Amino acid sequence: MERAEAVLPGGVNSPVRSFRSVGGSPPFFARAQGAFLFDLDHNRYVDMVLAYGPLILGHLHPSVVEAIRTQLEQGEAMGGPTLPEVELAERVHEYMPSVEMLRLVNSGTEATMSAIRLARGITGRSLILKFAGCYHGHADALLAESGSGLATLAIPGSPGVPAGTVADTLVLPYNDQGAVRDLFAQRGDGIAAVIVEPVAGNMGVVPPRPGFLPLLRELTERHGSLLILDEVMTGFRLARGGAQAIYQVVPDLTCLGKVIGGGLPVGAFGGRADLMRQLAPTGPIYQAGTLSGSPLAVAAGLAALGQLSDERPYTRLEALGARLEQGLRQVGKSVGIPMQINRVGSMLTFFFSQEEVVDYGSAAGSDLGLFASVHRGLIERGVFWPPSQFESSFLSLAHDEAAVDLVVAAFAEAVQAALP
Ligand SMILES: *Cc1c(COP(=O)(O)O)cnc(C)c1O
Repeated sequence: MERAEAVLPGGVNSPVRSFRSVGGSPPFFARAQGAFLFDLDHNRYVDMVLAYGPLILGHLHPSVVEAIRTQLEQGEAMGGPTLPEVELAERVHEYMPSVEMLRLVNSGTEATMSAIRLARGITGRSLILKFAGCYHGHADALLAESGSGLATLAIPGSPGVPAGTVADTLVLPYNDQGAVRDLFAQRGDGIAAVIVEPVAGNMGVVPPRPGFLPLLRELTERHGSLLILDEVMTGFRLARGGAQAIYQVVPDLTCLGKVIGGGLPVGAFGGRADLMRQLAPTGPIYQAGTLSGSPLAVAAGLAALGQLSDERPYTRLEALGARLEQGLRQVGKSVGIPMQINRVGSMLTFFFSQEEVVDYGSAAGSDLGLFASVHRGLIERGVFWPPSQFESSFLSLAHDEAAVDLVVAAFAEAVQAALP
């Protein structure tokens, strides 16, 4: 870590990987297989981070490995259109019918940034509405009261983002229907887009309250604003059709990332064809990328999505998630500590709190010190849990009941050890 810190800020290439908020030093990983990670000292960890979401099949799924290997022999970048890009767009449309057309990019950040530009270009309006604790990547306009690493490190916005850049970004509490109604009543006709995580994962998991997403759909439609669902985390993770299939909301635009790349760097944004045709070269709104649609990344993504072609994987992930939730709840009950567990399918966060966690305020009000202690205990016992209260844990299809039980047993010991 000392060697890393000398040449990489904080020793990491993304702040969420730092152990700053929980104390200690992150393990350095040497390799991974299935549901497990192995560090340089040959310690094994059940991986509950899964690269922050992409690895829904676990590490090194044979179909993904084979797809990358096969593509590697054909060429690594073409600088022209390729058939697999078309197949990936068709596959996404099949799974997620609202995505009639798609543009591939290289990260979730690029996807949200480009979707916002498209929405502003189309509507001719500047304002965007986001929700506190939702994270939409690190593009300037979206770095206001963000979740994920900003929440972990208590950075409200970021130095380097000019005030003017976020002046058009309106922020409201997640799940606050009254506040959304009031804002639209006053400024609705100036709002280009509402961008939202349909299930928030970047303040820890926070599901939408009944009526929240339908209200966003109704108000954006009435005021000529676009609804952008940021499904970078939830897309292909909660269901084949994403959170929009579960909650039955049809957005204008959807942002994708993580699972769509099968572990390689891919992002995408897409939606109604009439909107997407406004992008260059068919329209005036500019967006581009040298390595966008990288054949290796597209091959990995296609292979991953191919494994998710029906709802069976999600039934299995739900069963594993329920087992984890029950196990953790049982521990909380037997030890007698106030605990909230928020879970949707294979996304789960535990909060040490008396109060229900419904937005960023209630997430931040949980016992962060106890979280840090329990996190240390989990790491010591071979469970790689996200090193922040404001991240979701994940399960993959490589996890089995035994792996889940290992996590629960480690959690029981870690909680015991953390209590005075
Ligand atoms: C991870 C994430 C992003 C950013 O994706 P990157 O690939 O890290 O740029 C955007 N939105 C949501 C909801 C995310 O979870």
